[in-house]
Amino acid sequence: MKAAVVRDNCDGYVDIKDVELRDLKYGEALVKMEYCGLCHKDLHVAAGDFGKVPGRIIGHEGVGKVTKIADGVTNLNIGDRVSVAWFYRGCGHCEYCTTGRETLCRNVENSGFNVDGAMAEECIVPADYAVKVPDELDPIEATSLTCAGVTVYKGLKTGDLKPGQWVEVVGTGGLGNLAVQYAHNVFGAHVAAVDIDDDKLAATKDLGADLTINSLYEDASQVLQDKVGGVHSAIITAVSPDSFTTAVNALRPDGTLVAIALPQGDMGLNISKTVLDGIKVAGSLVGTRQDLAETFQFGAEKRVKPIVQTRQLSEINDIIDEMKNNQIVGRMVVDFTH
Ligand SMILES: [Zn+2]
Ligand SMILES: [Zn+2]
Repeated sequence: MKAAVVRDNCDGYVDIKDVELRDLKYGEALVKMEYCGLCHKDLHVAAGDFGKVPGRIIGHEGVGKVTKIADGVTNLNIGDRVSVAWFYRGCGHCEYCTTGRETLCRNVENSGFNVDGAMAEECIVPADYAVKVPDELDPIEATSLTCAGVTVYKGLKTGDLKPGQWVEVVGTGGLGNLAVQYAHNVFGAHVAAVDIDDDKLAATKDLGADLTINSLYEDASQVLQDKVGGVHSAIITAVSPDSFTTAVNALRPDGTLVAIALPQGDMGLNISKTVLDGIKVAGSLVGTRQDLAETFQFGAEKRVKPIVQTRQLSEINDIIDEMKNNQIVGRMVVDFTH
């Protein structure tokens, strides 16, 4: 079967190779891939940024159908549509795995990084960790919810966002766009979208943003303090350390800053603001199986809609270049059905 694998020199691109998968082990299922989105995390893996993994099949935004199950599988049937997410498997018995925080497991396996992933015609998954995709959810859109969707949904939960509260979404790209939708349509919150791109900001208005602020021309934190008394939480999806530093000042007392984006470097914090206003700072990474199931369900109910476009596997290095050059709106999804 064809698969996109990390090159021996880890130069940031992949080769399309014929790969033979091993036999299924106890508790595993074979998934025939239908669609798989390409994510910036895949680009980091291909470049060796998280550690070099030459020969690894990339991909963690996969959606496909179960074609084979091994002994010991009780939760899946042949024909079920499932996802292959970045969180591939936890150890199942540590402090984090047993208390609803499985993505923090120290022995976690991540699809397309330390185990072979979903950018392939077929993928082996541990059945207990494969989250089902509802029939009502478009499988192409599901690929985006598998990663960006669950990341922002979990991030909003991490900020303890409640109906009627204000949330600032900093950055309105792939993640931020979905964060606006989940915050407004699922959490019932008021949303302030902040970016430096007027077109992207205008698009968020249609998705539910109550306020949009271009931070090139206005001090977003000051505007939010003046207009709404500060936000209850701020979710940072922009890959600039400055965004983290300035967003602290947009928070109202007891507010929470939720870090989602992964720029290199350190963030600054106004210490007196943090202490006097009881500010909380939290990192948030993807989500648990339960978070993903909830994320999918809201997609199935059409409360959120990711921007996706299908491409062919043969174009994958072109897509990588387009992503590096920031030429893409929404997500490019490789179509394995044609
Ligand atoms: Zn991803
Ligand atoms: Zn664990």
